[in-house]
Amino acid sequence: MALEFDLVVRGGTVVNADGIAEADIGVSDGRVVAIARNVGKGASEVEARGRLVLPGGVDTHCHIEQISGNGLLNADTFETATRSAAFGGTTTCVSFAAQHKGQELIPVVEDYERRAQRGALIDYAFHIIVSDPECGSLEEDVVTLAERGHRSIKIFTTYNIRLDDTKILQVMAAARKGGDLICVHAENHAIIAYATERNLAAGNTAPKFHATAHSRLAEAEAVARMIRFSEFLDQPVLLFHISTREGVELVRQARQRGSRVRAETCPHYLLMTSEELDRPGLEGAKFMCSPPQRTQDDQEALWQALALGDIQLVTSDHAPFRFDGTGKLANGPDAPFNRIANGMPGLEVRMPLLFDAMVSSGRFDLCKFVEVTASNPARIFGLEAKGAIRIGADADFAIWNPDRKVTFGADDLHDNVGYNPFEGRTVTGWPETVVSRGDVVVESGVISDSYGRGRRVELKPAI
Ligand SMILES: [Zn+2]
Repeated sequence: MALEFDLVVRGGTVVNADGIAEADIGVSDGRVVAIARNVGKGASEVEARGRLVLPGGVDTHCHIEQISGNGLLNADTFETATRSAAFGGTTTCVSFAAQHKGQELIPVVEDYERRAQRGALIDYAFHIIVSDPECGSLEEDVVTLAERGHRSIKIFTTYNIRLDDTKILQVMAAARKGGDLICVHAENHAIIAYATERNLAAGNTAPKFHATAHSRLAEAEAVARMIRFSEFLDQPVLLFHISTREGVELVRQARQRGSRVRAETCPHYLLMTSEELDRPGLEGAKFMCSPPQRTQDDQEALWQALALGDIQLVTSDHAPFRFDGTGKLANGPDAPFNRIANGMPGLEVRMPLLFDAMVSSGRFDLCKFVEVTASNPARIFGLEAKGAIRIGADADFAIWNPDRKVTFGADDLHDNVGYNPFEGRTVTGWPETVVSRGDVVVESGVISDSYGRGRRVELKPAI
């Protein structure tokens, strides 16, 4: 009998955000061409009986091979980051092309494009970080990049790449011209700077004071302001990494009055509290990220917001810095909290942590898990061929063993960070086989070495 497909995934339970079915999947030329019982033969076959076949994860917030505001290159290349993502069941990632002062936007984006093209194992896209809107011709450059499929702009209200209110409005207006989504890191810079000074003056330099310096009110203030800016210009905004109950409530109220505001959170806000930072010496620095982890009450508010749809997606905010002189300890072993790089690895643990905390725990059903980890991110950013298993979509799958238990080790991730902030935690459910555009990239703990096979996907957010 002739081979009908390049690849068949046989006998699995196929899960989408809108339903579950027992079916085989036929793949040709990297796309899904059949979903039915007993499809014909494939040139290769993956046995999925007793397994769940889910859309590959879509992680729309990760920092890869990026130079940060303070000049540090983060620890991951496109090779190491996308390898790590694939091991964790993620098949599409959106990282950042970061403009710094005095750089023109288009060459910055082209530089990141070249590096990703060489290294990426899975598909990818970029957010454009705008930190100097007066360099070059903002509107023209944004429109040119939008025509090439770069249609997401990230701005900061804090750090040294922050924009003031006037510039934020300029960038939002340019985004409207390009049909871009605006993503914001929303924390009030003045509050953080003030609280940081007060802490340092009192001798409070340990990592745990990072959490008090990044006051929850700094998030509430900036979230409220960015929502109003979005309303003022009728420009859709995605609020990154909401961490507080106050942030959730502001987003909920805005959405109830019809604002075009969306919000994400991350596993470390759902599963950790600021107590993680309270460890001897600089050990707590491993857990430092911005905004910081908060309280159990905030976790409850975030879970509820996910259940109600006030928060639509959960991303990793993978921000890799090694716990040594190249990363977290670049300013020495006695550095005060404000001189330690912020961020944690998360690309590889995001999906397993959430499968465990959502599905295995019984908190949400499988469809909801797919919705917040794959379908919603794909839909919000207009990744039309991603986030669902349907005819014509890219054949990106994660095939899960829902019963497999894994306990995270100290240094078991496949990124280049060297530590796992979730060490010691046991999760139930694991993505054992991962398929990207019809290619099996992870199988039985072994990864493909076809670095550079990943392709850039165009963003078409619904604006
Ligand atoms: Zn981030």
